[in-house]
Amino acid sequence: MMQDVHQQANQKDADLDFRRWLSPLFLGSYAENDDLLEKIVVELLRDHMYWRRNVHPEDPPLISMLDQHSDEYLNFVADMKRELHGLSARLKNTAPFFNPRYIGHMASDLLLPGLIAQLVTTLYNPNHVTDEAAPATLRLELDVGLQLAGMFGYNTDERHQPCAWGHVTSGGTLANDESLWYFRAVRYWPLAAAAVLRETGLEPGPLRHCPLDLLAASDWQLFNLGIDRVIGLRRELLTLLRQRLSQDDARVLAARIESQRVEALGMAGFQQAHPGFNTPCVMVPDSAHYSWAKALKLLGFGSANLVSVAVTEHMRMDAAALDQALADAAAQQRPVLAVIGVLGTTEFGAIDPIDKLVTARRRWRERGLDFAIHIDAAWGGYLASMFRQPDGAMLSREQMLQDFRHFPSPQVYQAFAALRHADSITVDPHKLGFVPFGCGAYLARNRGMTDFISQRAAYVFDVEDDHTEVEYQRRFHNLGQYILEGSKPGAAAAAAWVTHKVLPLDHDHFGRLCAQTVRNGEYFFDHLQELRSALHGMARVIIPFEPDTNLVCLAINPEGNRSLGAMNRFGRALYEQMRVGTSVDMHTRAWFGSRTLVHRSALADAVATRLMQELGLDPASFSLEPRPGSDQADSIFLLRHTLMNPWLAVSTGGSNHLDRYCAYLAELVRQQLQRQ
Ligand SMILES: *Cc1c(COP(=O)(O)O)cnc(C)c1O
Repeated sequence: MMQDVHQQANQKDADLDFRRWLSPLFLGSYAENDDLLEKIVVELLRDHMYWRRNVHPEDPPLISMLDQHSDEYLNFVADMKRELHGLSARLKNTAPFFNPRYIGHMASDLLLPGLIAQLVTTLYNPNHVTDEAAPATLRLELDVGLQLAGMFGYNTDERHQPCAWGHVTSGGTLANDESLWYFRAVRYWPLAAAAVLRETGLEPGPLRHCPLDLLAASDWQLFNLGIDRVIGLRRELLTLLRQRLSQDDARVLAARIESQRVEALGMAGFQQAHPGFNTPCVMVPDSAHYSWAKALKLLGFGSANLVSVAVTEHMRMDAAALDQALADAAAQQRPVLAVIGVLGTTEFGAIDPIDKLVTARRRWRERGLDFAIHIDAAWGGYLASMFRQPDGAMLSREQMLQDFRHFPSPQVYQAFAALRHADSITVDPHKLGFVPFGCGAYLARNRGMTDFISQRAAYVFDVEDDHTEVEYQRRFHNLGQYILEGSKPGAAAAAAWVTHKVLPLDHDHFGRLCAQTVRNGEYFFDHLQELRSALHGMARVIIPFEPDTNLVCLAINPEGNRSLGAMNRFGRALYEQMRVGTSVDMHTRAWFGSRTLVHRSALADAVATRLMQELGLDPASFSLEPRPGSDQADSIFLLRHTLMNPWLAVSTGGSNHLDRYCAYLAELVRQQLQRQ
């Protein structure tokens, strides 16, 4: 009893501490920090205007006061104001992401430092395609890359090899595209180089970075060298050519290699030149984001070469199924460009067993099958901040457990600990980084991958074949040459940079915010019993897959209903009340939610049967191929809850938003049952 009182008092202190810490971070759902935002923005706006005047104060002003009183001027101002007010009116039907009643998509309130940085930087309009268009801010983007790389445990000290680098993208989709674009550039390179050596009969002799005899090796062997080896091999080979050949001959040969790369020949041309070499595949968990199918279409591999690996009943990639897929690929000599692990799936927040991907690679490498590992951490990437001490070391799982009731499970902890072994990572500052949209990031463990990307002609290779810090900085200052995008807003990078400066990406700073999102998930999970009691005898509520992090999905079945089709209709009717869309009046909404479907094809038989049992449904109503006209369905409709708003579990007036949401949901279910 004493213990309980004591614990409660401690909890209260912790809650108060957290509220205090949180209070200046966001504008607030009631715009509580209005003065703060206004004051800083006006100050920085004025600062910008003074700057304009001071660029060349000797020049006379171009817009005169008389002009400003002309009819044309006033007419334009009237038009502009009318249209801007019109826009402002329309914007009121935006989904109120900032409000803790919004638990739908992956958006919440924006951190003030990032929001202000974005607004203010836009006034200066830097273009991060090159430092010539962004002399002041391009450096910040590269810093963001290193800040994020450090959070994942990559080496960012250029005195040690390999050194990471990263940059900002428009979002996770582009970062995912770029990962495959880079892997293709690196992994196909030895095939082109060996073909040219064979053509010229140039015998390179034993190489330090490559155990193979390049002239005799098969394309399969050359493709399975591994990222770091290929980077080393290219440097070694080009150095060798320069030593052995005249400068002109070396250039010609380097240009010839360039011309034989898949990027130059195209997929069809490369296939002709390498008839025995099959099109590579990319392996993703069944739960992967649809951007991966897009990426394969875009790069010309074709979505048929996206191999979906089954997931476990935690919705994590099944390591045994991955192993089987790799065995199949090896047997068919089907090259594996990359295996993608998802850190925080879009639908369930599930954490794939990254450590098992890494050990699988170690094992398959010995058998001659190598693959790159990319982590799609668009959603869950920032959660890694919770695991990092300010000095960069990992917290132990025991230390982590002190902050939570369940998190992190041993599997989840091992997954985060293994991130540093991945070749590249996607992370979205515009999701769990709480900065405005238009801010994703691509990070590579080894910046040497950029050796394979330049858009410059091959004759400059002798300049490029210099791997000094100065050369890398020169490269990165021509960013547009090394990334998929061209002109891009410096404002997005500035937003992430200031955010990471104010809230460093470790357990004591940014990690506190992420920890609260995980606690939201735990609170919702632990308090579901109350929703169940409230609906006792009326409906069954289940969480189909125990959540790993901060996304929680629910299925609700009216008591006595046996058909999945009917349950899905019931769920859709509930969702209809929380849906956001073009035709929905936002004022009619009490809460804002989202939904998802789990397809029968994504589930093992045992899991499908378990879910039907827990819901009290007839297992026959969940079918891979529903009979037309029957009440069968091939998927389960779920209410999906993105619990990223840090205020969700903060108690105000004796309860919190999650309690209130559960009460709302219970009422919604009751009303819907009456309607039926
Ligand atoms: C959101 C998301 C993406 C796509 O990112 P965008 O920023 O929307 O382009 C990719 N993968 C995962 C896991 C995601 O959650």
